[in-house]
Amino acid sequence: MKKIIVLLTLFLNSLLVLAQNQDSLFIRSVFSNALTDNTSYENLRTLCKKIGGRIGGSPQAAKTVSWVEETLKKIGADTVYLQPCMVRNWKRGSKEICYATTAKNVKQKFDVCALGGSIGTGVNGIKAGIIEVKSLDELKLLGEEKIKGKIVFFNRPADPTLYNTFRAYGGAADQRFIGPSIAASYGAIASITRSITVVTHKYPHTGIMHYIDSLPKIPAFAISTIDADNLSTIINKDASVKVYLESTCYDMPDTISYNVIAELKGSEFPHEFIDIGAHMDAWDITEGAQDDGCGVVEMMDVIRMYKQLNYKPKHTIRVVEFMDEEMGQRGARVYAESVKKNMEKHIASIESDEGAFLPQGFSFESGDETVEKRFEQWKYLLMPYGLWNFHRGYSGVDISFMNDQKFPLIGLNNDSQRYFNYQHAATDVFESITLRELQLGTASIASLVYLIDKYGF
Ligand SMILES: [Zn+2]
Repeated sequence: MKKIIVLLTLFLNSLLVLAQNQDSLFIRSVFSNALTDNTSYENLRTLCKKIGGRIGGSPQAAKTVSWVEETLKKIGADTVYLQPCMVRNWKRGSKEICYATTAKNVKQKFDVCALGGSIGTGVNGIKAGIIEVKSLDELKLLGEEKIKGKIVFFNRPADPTLYNTFRAYGGAADQRFIGPSIAASYGAIASITRSITVVTHKYPHTGIMHYIDSLPKIPAFAISTIDADNLSTIINKDASVKVYLESTCYDMPDTISYNVIAELKGSEFPHEFIDIGAHMDAWDITEGAQDDGCGVVEMMDVIRMYKQLNYKPKHTIRVVEFMDEEMGQRGARVYAESVKKNMEKHIASIESDEGAFLPQGFSFESGDETVEKRFEQWKYLLMPYGLWNFHRGYSGVDISFMNDQKFPLIGLNNDSQRYFNYQHAATDVFESITLRELQLGTASIASLVYLIDKYGF
Protein backbone atom coordinates (compact mmCIF):
# COMPACT_ATOMS: atom_id res chain seq x y z
CA MET A 1 0.00 0.00 0.00
CA LYS A 2 2.80 2.37 1.02
CA LYS A 3 4.55 1.64 -2.25
CA ILE A 4 1.44 2.55 -4.23
CA ILE A 5 1.13 5.87 -2.40
CA VAL A 6 4.80 6.68 -3.02
CA LEU A 7 4.47 5.80 -6.72
CA LEU A 8 1.28 7.83 -7.02
CA THR A 9 2.93 10.85 -5.36
CA LEU A 10 5.91 10.56 -7.68
CA PHE A 11 3.58 10.32 -10.67
CA LEU A 12 1.55 13.35 -9.60
CA ASN A 13 4.73 15.33 -8.91
CA SER A 14 6.08 14.54 -12.35
CA LEU A 15 2.77 15.68 -13.87
CA LEU A 16 3.06 18.95 -11.93
CA VAL A 17 6.64 19.48 -13.08
CA LEU A 18 5.55 18.77 -16.65
CA ALA A 19 2.74 21.33 -16.40
CA GLN A 20 5.09 23.90 -14.87
CA ASN A 21 7.59 23.30 -17.65
CA GLN A 22 4.84 23.70 -20.24
CA ASP A 23 3.77 26.97 -18.61
CA SER A 24 7.24 28.40 -18.46
CA LEU A 25 7.91 27.35 -22.07
CA PHE A 26 4.69 28.96 -23.25
CA ILE A 27 5.35 32.19 -21.38
CA ARG A 28 8.85 32.21 -22.82
CA SER A 29 7.38 31.92 -26.32
CA VAL A 30 4.96 34.79 -25.57
CA PHE A 31 7.80 37.13 -24.56
CA SER A 32 9.99 35.98 -27.47
CA ASN A 33 7.15 36.64 -29.89
CA ALA A 34 6.43 40.08 -28.40
CA LEU A 35 10.06 41.17 -28.36
CA THR A 36 10.61 40.26 -32.00
CA ASP A 37 7.41 41.75 -33.40
CA ASN A 38 6.42 45.35 -34.02
CA THR A 39 2.79 45.00 -35.17
CA SER A 40 1.35 46.82 -32.15
CA TYR A 41 3.99 49.56 -32.39
CA GLU A 42 3.07 50.16 -36.02
CA ASN A 43 -0.63 50.03 -35.15
CA LEU A 44 -0.03 52.66 -32.51
CA ARG A 45 1.84 54.82 -35.02
CA THR A 46 -1.23 54.70 -37.31
CA LEU A 47 -3.62 55.53 -34.47
CA CYS A 48 -1.48 58.46 -33.27
CA LYS A 49 -0.32 59.91 -36.58
CA LYS A 50 -3.24 59.20 -38.92
CA ILE A 51 -6.03 59.84 -36.39
CA GLY A 52 -4.51 61.60 -33.37
CA GLY A 53 -6.52 63.06 -30.46
CA ARG A 54 -9.96 61.43 -30.37
CA ILE A 55 -12.16 62.68 -27.57
CA GLY A 56 -15.65 61.15 -27.42
CA GLY A 57 -18.03 62.68 -29.97
CA SER A 58 -15.26 63.92 -32.29
CA PRO A 59 -14.85 62.84 -35.94
CA GLN A 60 -11.49 61.36 -34.84
CA ALA A 61 -13.27 59.16 -32.28
CA ALA A 62 -15.60 57.90 -35.03
CA LYS A 63 -12.58 57.19 -37.24
CA THR A 64 -10.92 55.33 -34.37
CA VAL A 65 -13.94 53.06 -33.95
CA SER A 66 -13.81 52.10 -37.65
CA TRP A 67 -10.05 51.63 -37.64
CA VAL A 68 -10.05 49.50 -34.48
CA GLU A 69 -12.90 47.37 -35.84
CA GLU A 70 -11.13 46.87 -39.15
CA THR A 71 -7.75 46.12 -37.55
CA LEU A 72 -9.24 43.52 -35.21
CA LYS A 73 -10.88 41.84 -38.20
CA LYS A 74 -7.56 41.82 -40.07
CA ILE A 75 -5.79 40.31 -37.08
CA GLY A 76 -8.23 37.42 -37.32
CA ALA A 77 -10.52 37.72 -34.29
CA ASP A 78 -13.45 35.27 -34.55
CA THR A 79 -16.06 37.94 -33.92
CA VAL A 80 -15.83 41.72 -34.02
CA TYR A 81 -18.82 43.89 -33.21
CA LEU A 82 -19.76 47.37 -32.06
CA GLN A 83 -21.62 48.14 -28.86
CA PRO A 84 -23.45 51.49 -29.10
CA CYS A 85 -23.27 54.09 -26.35
CA MET A 86 -24.29 57.75 -26.22
CA VAL A 87 -21.41 60.08 -25.40
CA ARG A 88 -20.98 63.69 -24.40
CA ASN A 89 -20.05 65.94 -27.30
CA TRP A 90 -17.82 68.68 -25.90
CA LYS A 91 -15.81 70.90 -28.20
CA ARG A 92 -12.73 72.90 -27.24
CA GLY A 93 -13.14 75.65 -29.83
CA SER A 94 -10.15 77.84 -30.66
CA LYS A 95 -6.84 77.94 -28.82
CA GLU A 96 -7.17 79.42 -25.36
CA ILE A 97 -5.52 82.70 -24.36
CA CYS A 98 -4.21 83.81 -20.98
CA TYR A 99 -2.09 86.78 -19.98
CA ALA A 100 -1.51 88.91 -16.92
CA THR A 101 -1.22 92.70 -16.92
CA THR A 102 0.68 94.33 -14.07
CA ALA A 103 0.09 97.76 -12.55
CA LYS A 104 2.90 99.07 -14.78
CA ASN A 105 0.98 97.74 -17.79
CA VAL A 106 3.48 94.93 -18.48
CA LYS A 107 1.84 91.96 -20.20
CA GLN A 108 2.93 88.35 -19.65
CA LYS A 109 1.46 85.39 -21.56
CA PHE A 110 0.88 81.94 -20.07
CA ASP A 111 0.33 78.46 -21.52
CA VAL A 112 -3.18 77.33 -20.59
CA CYS A 113 -5.90 75.10 -21.94
CA ALA A 114 -9.54 74.68 -21.03
CA LEU A 115 -10.36 71.78 -18.73
CA GLY A 116 -12.50 69.10 -20.33
CA GLY A 117 -16.21 69.83 -19.97
CA SER A 118 -15.67 73.51 -19.14
CA ILE A 119 -17.87 76.28 -20.50
CA GLY A 120 -16.08 78.98 -22.52
CA THR A 121 -15.52 82.63 -21.69
CA GLY A 122 -16.68 83.62 -25.18
CA VAL A 123 -14.62 85.66 -27.62
CA ASN A 124 -14.66 88.74 -25.40
CA GLY A 125 -12.87 86.86 -22.65
CA ILE A 126 -12.76 87.65 -18.94
CA LYS A 127 -10.45 90.14 -17.25
CA ALA A 128 -10.30 90.20 -13.48
CA GLY A 129 -8.17 90.18 -10.36
CA ILE A 130 -6.77 86.84 -9.26
CA ILE A 131 -6.39 85.07 -5.95
CA GLU A 132 -4.05 82.12 -5.38
CA VAL A 133 -5.03 79.22 -3.12
CA LYS A 134 -3.48 75.86 -2.29
CA SER A 135 -6.61 73.98 -1.28
CA LEU A 136 -10.38 73.95 -1.39
CA ASP A 137 -10.40 74.58 2.37
CA GLU A 138 -8.53 77.81 1.86
CA LEU A 139 -11.50 79.09 -0.15
CA LYS A 140 -13.64 78.67 2.92
CA LEU A 141 -11.20 80.69 5.03
CA LEU A 142 -11.05 83.51 2.47
CA GLY A 143 -14.82 83.56 2.01
CA GLU A 144 -16.98 85.37 -0.51
CA GLU A 145 -15.65 88.79 0.48
CA LYS A 146 -12.16 88.07 -0.89
CA ILE A 147 -13.17 85.79 -3.77
CA LYS A 148 -16.23 87.37 -5.37
CA GLY A 149 -15.63 88.70 -8.89
CA LYS A 150 -12.13 87.21 -9.07
CA ILE A 151 -10.36 84.38 -10.84
CA VAL A 152 -9.35 81.62 -8.41
CA PHE A 153 -5.90 80.11 -9.05
CA PHE A 154 -5.47 76.63 -7.56
CA ASN A 155 -1.74 76.10 -7.20
CA ARG A 156 -1.11 73.07 -4.97
CA PRO A 157 1.46 70.87 -6.77
CA ALA A 158 1.12 67.10 -7.10
CA ASP A 159 3.26 65.85 -4.18
CA PRO A 160 6.68 65.00 -5.70
CA THR A 161 7.76 63.10 -2.58
CA LEU A 162 5.35 60.25 -3.27
CA TYR A 163 7.03 57.31 -5.04
CA ASN A 164 3.86 56.29 -6.86
CA THR A 165 2.93 59.21 -9.12
CA PHE A 166 -0.68 58.01 -9.40
CA ARG A 167 -0.94 58.80 -5.68
CA ALA A 168 0.56 62.24 -6.28
CA TYR A 169 -1.98 62.82 -9.06
CA GLY A 170 -4.88 61.65 -6.88
CA GLY A 171 -3.79 64.00 -4.10
CA ALA A 172 -4.08 67.08 -6.31
CA ALA A 173 -7.05 66.15 -8.50
CA ASP A 174 -9.77 67.78 -6.35
CA GLN A 175 -8.54 71.22 -7.50
CA ARG A 176 -9.25 70.28 -11.10
CA PHE A 177 -12.30 68.09 -10.68
CA ILE A 178 -14.55 70.11 -8.33
CA GLY A 179 -12.35 73.17 -7.65
CA PRO A 180 -14.10 75.35 -10.25
CA SER A 181 -17.55 74.69 -8.78
CA ILE A 182 -16.41 75.27 -5.22
CA ALA A 183 -14.72 78.52 -6.30
CA ALA A 184 -17.96 79.55 -8.03
CA SER A 185 -19.88 78.98 -4.79
CA TYR A 186 -17.86 81.90 -3.31
CA GLY A 187 -18.50 84.13 -6.30
CA ALA A 188 -15.39 83.39 -8.45
CA ILE A 189 -15.91 84.13 -12.15
CA ALA A 190 -13.28 81.72 -13.57
CA SER A 191 -10.65 79.31 -12.32
CA ILE A 192 -7.12 78.28 -13.27
CA THR A 193 -5.72 74.99 -11.94
CA ARG A 194 -2.04 74.04 -11.86
CA SER A 195 -1.54 71.05 -14.20
CA ILE A 196 -1.50 67.79 -12.29
CA THR A 197 1.95 66.44 -13.01
CA VAL A 198 5.16 66.02 -11.06
CA VAL A 199 7.28 67.58 -13.81
CA THR A 200 7.91 71.27 -14.38
CA HIS A 201 7.38 72.01 -18.04
CA LYS A 202 5.57 74.36 -20.37
CA TYR A 203 2.71 72.07 -21.38
CA PRO A 204 -0.74 72.45 -19.82
CA HIS A 205 -2.45 69.16 -18.92
CA THR A 206 -6.18 69.03 -19.49
CA GLY A 207 -8.61 66.52 -17.93
CA ILE A 208 -12.24 66.33 -17.03
CA MET A 209 -13.81 68.73 -14.54
CA HIS A 210 -17.26 68.39 -13.04
CA TYR A 211 -19.82 71.11 -12.39
CA ILE A 212 -21.95 70.69 -9.29
CA ASP A 213 -25.52 71.13 -10.55
CA SER A 214 -26.70 73.52 -7.85
CA LEU A 215 -23.77 75.93 -8.34
CA PRO A 216 -23.03 78.49 -11.08
CA LYS A 217 -20.82 77.28 -13.94
CA ILE A 218 -17.59 79.21 -14.49
CA PRO A 219 -14.93 78.75 -17.21
CA ALA A 220 -12.14 76.47 -15.96
CA PHE A 221 -8.56 76.33 -17.21
CA ALA A 222 -5.36 74.37 -16.60
CA ILE A 223 -2.01 76.16 -16.62
CA SER A 224 1.38 74.55 -17.27
CA THR A 225 3.45 73.90 -14.14
CA ILE A 226 6.20 76.31 -15.21
CA ASP A 227 3.64 79.06 -15.80
CA ALA A 228 1.86 78.25 -12.54
CA ASP A 229 5.16 79.12 -10.83
CA ASN A 230 5.54 82.25 -12.99
CA LEU A 231 1.99 83.41 -12.31
CA SER A 232 2.44 82.85 -8.60
CA THR A 233 5.62 84.98 -8.59
CA ILE A 234 3.82 87.82 -10.39
CA ILE A 235 0.83 87.73 -8.02
CA ASN A 236 3.11 87.74 -4.99
CA LYS A 237 4.94 90.84 -6.25
CA ASP A 238 1.86 92.73 -7.38
CA ALA A 239 -1.51 91.93 -5.85
CA SER A 240 -3.27 94.33 -8.25
CA VAL A 241 -2.39 92.21 -11.29
CA LYS A 242 -5.25 91.53 -13.70
CA VAL A 243 -5.56 88.31 -15.69
CA TYR A 244 -7.24 87.89 -19.06
CA LEU A 245 -8.71 84.52 -20.03
CA GLU A 246 -10.32 83.47 -23.27
CA SER A 247 -11.83 80.17 -24.37
CA THR A 248 -14.59 79.21 -26.75
CA CYS A 249 -15.47 75.67 -25.66
CA TYR A 250 -19.06 74.48 -25.76
CA ASP A 251 -21.23 71.39 -25.58
CA MET A 252 -23.16 69.92 -28.50
CA PRO A 253 -26.02 67.46 -27.90
CA ASP A 254 -24.91 63.95 -26.89
CA THR A 255 -24.05 61.76 -29.84
CA ILE A 256 -23.77 58.07 -30.63
CA SER A 257 -20.47 56.25 -30.41
CA TYR A 258 -19.35 52.68 -29.78
CA ASN A 259 -17.21 50.27 -27.81
CA VAL A 260 -15.43 47.87 -30.14
CA ILE A 261 -15.55 44.25 -28.96
CA ALA A 262 -13.63 41.33 -30.47
CA GLU A 263 -13.50 37.71 -29.41
CA LEU A 264 -11.24 34.73 -29.77
CA LYS A 265 -13.70 31.91 -29.13
CA GLY A 266 -13.00 29.46 -26.31
CA SER A 267 -12.56 25.83 -27.34
CA GLU A 268 -14.12 24.35 -24.18
CA PHE A 269 -16.08 27.17 -22.57
CA PRO A 270 -17.09 29.56 -25.35
CA HIS A 271 -19.65 31.24 -23.08
CA GLU A 272 -17.17 32.05 -20.33
CA PHE A 273 -15.10 35.19 -20.82
CA ILE A 274 -11.76 36.66 -19.92
CA ASP A 275 -11.98 40.40 -20.71
CA ILE A 276 -8.98 42.45 -21.71
CA GLY A 277 -9.69 46.14 -22.10
CA ALA A 278 -8.35 49.63 -22.71
CA HIS A 279 -9.89 52.93 -23.83
CA MET A 280 -9.89 54.28 -27.37
CA ASP A 281 -10.74 57.92 -26.67
CA ALA A 282 -7.97 60.41 -25.90
CA TRP A 283 -7.84 64.16 -25.23
CA ASP A 284 -7.93 66.36 -28.30
CA ILE A 285 -4.66 68.18 -27.48
CA THR A 286 -2.73 64.87 -27.45
CA GLU A 287 -2.05 61.96 -29.80
CA GLY A 288 -3.18 59.62 -27.01
CA ALA A 289 -0.15 57.34 -27.29
CA GLN A 290 0.35 56.73 -23.55
CA ASP A 291 -3.27 57.44 -22.60
CA ASP A 292 -4.42 55.00 -23.80
CA GLY A 293 -3.54 54.12 -27.39
CA CYS A 294 -0.87 51.76 -26.10
CA GLY A 295 -3.48 49.80 -24.14
CA VAL A 296 -5.70 49.59 -27.24
CA VAL A 297 -2.95 48.09 -29.41
CA GLU A 298 -1.68 45.80 -26.63
CA MET A 299 -5.08 44.13 -26.37
CA MET A 300 -5.32 43.69 -30.15
CA ASP A 301 -1.87 42.19 -30.12
CA VAL A 302 -2.80 39.49 -27.61
CA ILE A 303 -5.15 38.10 -30.28
CA ARG A 304 -2.47 38.34 -32.98
CA MET A 305 0.05 36.60 -30.78
CA TYR A 306 -2.24 33.73 -29.71
CA LYS A 307 -3.09 33.07 -33.34
CA GLN A 308 0.55 33.15 -34.36
CA LEU A 309 1.55 30.85 -31.50
CA ASN A 310 -1.38 28.63 -32.39
CA TYR A 311 -2.72 28.90 -28.85
CA LYS A 312 -6.39 27.99 -28.63
CA PRO A 313 -7.83 29.31 -25.37
CA LYS A 314 -10.37 27.21 -23.43
CA HIS A 315 -12.37 30.30 -22.50
CA THR A 316 -13.37 33.10 -24.84
CA ILE A 317 -10.87 35.96 -24.79
CA ARG A 318 -12.80 39.16 -25.25
CA VAL A 319 -11.06 42.38 -26.21
CA VAL A 320 -13.10 45.39 -25.10
CA GLU A 321 -11.93 48.70 -26.53
CA PHE A 322 -13.92 51.24 -24.52
CA MET A 323 -15.17 54.65 -25.65
CA ASP A 324 -15.48 57.79 -23.51
CA GLU A 325 -13.23 57.01 -20.55
CA GLU A 326 -12.02 60.59 -20.36
CA MET A 327 -15.34 62.44 -20.31
CA GLY A 328 -18.00 60.24 -18.74
CA GLN A 329 -17.08 56.54 -19.04
CA ARG A 330 -20.32 55.95 -20.91
CA GLY A 331 -18.85 53.03 -22.90
CA ALA A 332 -17.69 51.34 -19.71
CA ARG A 333 -21.10 51.79 -18.08
CA VAL A 334 -22.92 50.31 -21.08
CA TYR A 335 -20.54 47.34 -21.18
CA ALA A 336 -20.91 46.63 -17.44
CA GLU A 337 -24.70 46.80 -17.79
CA SER A 338 -24.64 44.34 -20.69
CA VAL A 339 -22.53 41.86 -18.71
CA LYS A 340 -25.07 42.02 -15.89
CA LYS A 341 -28.16 41.97 -18.08
CA ASN A 342 -26.98 38.99 -20.13
CA MET A 343 -25.85 37.21 -16.96
CA GLU A 344 -22.55 36.43 -18.63
CA LYS A 345 -20.02 34.33 -16.82
CA HIS A 346 -16.67 36.10 -16.63
CA ILE A 347 -13.49 34.63 -15.21
CA ALA A 348 -11.67 37.96 -14.94
CA SER A 349 -11.45 41.41 -16.44
CA ILE A 350 -8.05 43.00 -17.10
CA GLU A 351 -7.31 46.63 -17.97
CA SER A 352 -4.24 48.43 -19.28
CA ASP A 353 -4.34 52.21 -18.72
CA GLU A 354 -1.01 53.20 -17.20
CA GLY A 355 0.90 54.01 -20.38
CA ALA A 356 3.56 51.90 -22.06
CA PHE A 357 6.16 51.83 -19.31
CA LEU A 358 8.06 48.96 -17.78
CA PRO A 359 5.47 46.47 -16.44
CA GLN A 360 5.96 45.59 -12.79
CA GLY A 361 2.98 43.43 -11.92
CA PHE A 362 -0.77 43.41 -11.49
CA SER A 363 -3.18 44.88 -8.96
CA PHE A 364 -6.46 43.17 -8.31
CA GLU A 365 -9.75 43.89 -6.60
CA SER A 366 -12.94 41.96 -5.84
CA GLY A 367 -12.98 38.21 -6.33
CA ASP A 368 -12.15 35.95 -3.38
CA GLU A 369 -8.95 34.82 -1.65
CA THR A 370 -8.15 32.41 -4.47
CA VAL A 371 -6.98 35.36 -6.58
CA GLU A 372 -4.22 36.19 -4.11
CA LYS A 373 -3.22 32.53 -3.87
CA ARG A 374 -3.10 32.13 -7.63
CA PHE A 375 -0.79 35.11 -8.04
CA GLU A 376 1.41 33.61 -5.34
CA GLN A 377 1.52 30.33 -7.31
CA TRP A 378 2.21 32.07 -10.62
CA LYS A 379 4.84 34.44 -9.29
CA TYR A 380 7.80 32.21 -10.19
CA LEU A 381 6.60 32.07 -13.83
CA LEU A 382 6.22 35.85 -14.14
CA MET A 383 9.13 37.16 -12.09
CA PRO A 384 11.77 36.34 -14.75
CA TYR A 385 10.01 38.95 -16.90
CA GLY A 386 10.11 41.75 -14.33
CA LEU A 387 6.62 41.09 -12.94
CA TRP A 388 7.07 41.01 -9.19
CA ASN A 389 4.39 43.20 -7.67
CA PHE A 390 1.00 41.49 -7.16
CA HIS A 391 -1.22 43.23 -4.69
CA ARG A 392 -4.76 44.18 -3.83
CA GLY A 393 -5.48 47.59 -5.31
CA TYR A 394 -7.33 49.62 -7.89
CA SER A 395 -7.58 47.99 -11.31
CA GLY A 396 -8.75 50.67 -13.76
CA VAL A 397 -11.50 53.18 -14.50
CA ASP A 398 -13.29 51.32 -17.30
CA ILE A 399 -13.58 47.94 -15.63
CA SER A 400 -14.38 49.50 -12.25
CA PHE A 401 -18.08 49.56 -13.22
CA MET A 402 -18.08 45.77 -12.83
CA ASN A 403 -16.90 45.84 -9.22
CA ASP A 404 -20.26 44.58 -8.02
CA GLN A 405 -19.60 41.31 -9.87
CA LYS A 406 -17.98 38.25 -8.37
CA PHE A 407 -15.06 37.97 -10.77
CA PRO A 408 -11.75 39.73 -10.15
CA LEU A 409 -10.80 43.02 -11.80
CA ILE A 410 -7.12 43.23 -12.62
CA GLY A 411 -4.93 46.17 -13.68
CA LEU A 412 -1.56 46.01 -15.40
CA ASN A 413 0.80 48.05 -13.20
CA ASN A 414 3.69 49.81 -14.88
CA ASP A 415 6.51 51.91 -13.54
CA SER A 416 4.77 55.24 -12.86
CA GLN A 417 7.73 57.67 -12.89
CA ARG A 418 7.21 59.09 -16.40
CA TYR A 419 3.46 58.62 -16.99
CA PHE A 420 2.47 62.11 -15.84
CA ASN A 421 5.07 63.76 -18.09
CA TYR A 422 2.58 62.91 -20.82
CA GLN A 423 -0.93 62.27 -19.52
CA HIS A 424 -3.49 64.71 -21.00
CA ALA A 425 -0.79 67.00 -22.45
CA ALA A 426 0.58 67.74 -25.93
CA THR A 427 3.63 65.66 -24.96
CA ASP A 428 1.56 62.45 -25.21
CA VAL A 429 2.75 61.53 -28.70
CA PHE A 430 3.87 58.37 -30.45
CA GLU A 431 7.55 59.36 -30.09
CA SER A 432 7.23 59.00 -26.31
CA ILE A 433 6.72 55.24 -26.70
CA THR A 434 9.57 52.75 -26.36
CA LEU A 435 8.93 49.68 -28.49
CA ARG A 436 10.28 47.19 -25.95
CA GLU A 437 8.25 48.58 -23.07
CA LEU A 438 5.09 48.47 -25.18
CA GLN A 439 5.79 44.87 -26.18
CA LEU A 440 6.53 43.84 -22.59
CA GLY A 441 3.07 45.17 -21.70
CA THR A 442 1.43 42.99 -24.36
CA ALA A 443 3.43 39.95 -23.30
CA SER A 444 2.61 40.48 -19.61
CA ILE A 445 -1.11 40.53 -20.38
CA ALA A 446 -0.91 37.56 -22.77
CA SER A 447 0.98 35.53 -20.14
CA LEU A 448 -1.49 36.30 -17.38
CA VAL A 449 -4.47 35.54 -19.64
CA TYR A 450 -2.86 32.17 -20.50
CA LEU A 451 -2.53 31.29 -16.80
CA ILE A 452 -6.08 32.42 -16.00
CA ASP A 453 -7.39 30.46 -18.98
CA LYS A 454 -5.58 27.31 -17.87
CA TYR A 455 -6.06 27.42 -14.07
CA GLY A 456 -8.90 29.89 -13.47
CA PHE A 457 -9.47 31.53 -10.09
ZN1 LIG B 1 -6.55 56.60 -19.62
